[in-house]
Amino acid sequence: MTHASSQGRLTVVGLGPGNAELLTQQVRNSIASATDAFGYFPYIERLSGLEHLTLHASDNREELERARAALHLAAQGKQVLMLSSGDPGVFAMASAVFEVLEYAAPDEQLLWQAVHIEVQPGITAMLAAAARLGAPLGHDFCTINLSDNLKPAEVIERRICLAAQADFAMAFYNPCSKSRPQGFERALKVLRQECEPERLICFARNVSRPDETLNVVPLAAASAEMADMRTLVIVGNSLTRKVGPHVYTPRSYGVQARG
Ligand code: SAH
Repeated sequence: MTHASSQGRLTVVGLGPGNAELLTQQVRNSIASATDAFGYFPYIERLSGLEHLTLHASDNREELERARAALHLAAQGKQVLMLSSGDPGVFAMASAVFEVLEYAAPDEQLLWQAVHIEVQPGITAMLAAAARLGAPLGHDFCTINLSDNLKPAEVIERRICLAAQADFAMAFYNPCSKSRPQGFERALKVLRQECEPERLICFARNVSRPDETLNVVPLAAASAEMADMRTLVIVGNSLTRKVGPHVYTPRSYGVQARG
């Protein structure tokens, strides 16, 4: 039993891409010893049935409020989990917790300073998708969040353009959503300007879940409706190719494997 005087803890965890086998043992242990869990509804759903936990679900535009509420509870001595899917440091809750800490009011700072904060990694969607496809991220790559909730669309387009010019492979999170149906169309437009039509584009939807789908097409055949909010998109670099059913990016330019 947790007493109000015991040290409160806020553990920010990543649940991986969906399949229970991709949840780390470290996060499993944290779930087993927690008293409370905060998170976006579908992530909280993944812990339903665990009777030792009090669940606090909220909507996905409420990250800062959620972080504040979790810190308040941890300051009362609770063992609090903050859930993200994938990895909590990749477009997820870990940064939101630190933003709230940085801008805390003096009375909150006083309350929260006793809370032990820890971030525990998870398998991010990009790595789970890459492994299912083969090795599309085997050379240099970058990761871009296509959501324009927190940054201007021009910044996103410029990053895609420069990454393509630098011949990075790219992983796109949040390719589009109901409120942003044109998001991925704009990204495709930039790619068509910068890359050859044969460039491989991989659409990995619901990776590691029962309804997983993988779709690999040349840029010329890619279209906006191939990606939705449950899709992770990987754009190959200029050397990314298929070997059998797999997609891979060679480790270097111009070097052939020796027999
Ligand atoms: N923190 C998460 C990412 C949150 S952003 C992580 O590390 O994976 C949400 C986006 O992640 C989705 O729009 C989608 O692009 C991607 N995503 C999350 N889980 C996924 C899965 N199982 N399959 C494919 N994409 C996924």
